[in-house]
Amino acid sequence: MAGSCEKHGPQDDWSGVCRNVGDALKEGRSVGFNWGVDDGFYWAFCDECQTLTLNGEKRVHDLVPLCKGCFAEARLLNGNPEALQ
Ligand SMILES: [Zn+2]
Ligand SMILES: [Zn+2]
Repeated sequence: MAGSCEKHGPQDDWSGVCRNVGDALKEGRSVGFNWGVDDGFYWAFCDECQTLTLNGEKRVHDLVPLCKGCFAEARLLNGNPEALQ
């Protein structure tokens, strides 16, 4: 998927994060960053979505695209957590 990030410019490779993670990054808030990589696709969910997923329930936030630079910033903002297995 091609496209351009307002902050980091043109991108060929995007991650997918729940909308809450994306919004929180813009506002500089920490909402949890539960992330991993599936087949080269980087994804991350907020704590609320992660808890629901672990309980077998549906996530409350849609997945939105986030550039890899923004992904790294969101990870740092949330304490630089390790990837989930
Ligand atoms: Zn969420
Ligand atoms: Zn970006």
